[in-house]
Amino acid sequence: MPIYEYICPDCKTKFELMRPLSKSGEPADCPKCKHPSKRTLSKFACFITDESGATSPVGGGCAGCASGSCNTCHT
Ligand SMILES: [Zn+2]
Repeated sequence: MPIYEYICPDCKTKFELMRPLSKSGEPADCPKCKHPSKRTLSKFACFITDESGATSPVGGGCAGCASGSCNTCHT
């Protein structure tokens, strides 16, 4: 299962959560204040790296959601 990083909009706590890809776009509760937290925008989230070392956007959305409608996609 992939690990995703989240940041709490309230207390700014960063935390990691292991969850299925299908749940990666859903908010996760902050471990401190239980505020729903969104995934952090990782540098590599919207790109894939091929064997030649080149990076390219993942078609149809980002690596996290594949739907083109999550926060990561809008960066
Ligand atoms: Zn919090």
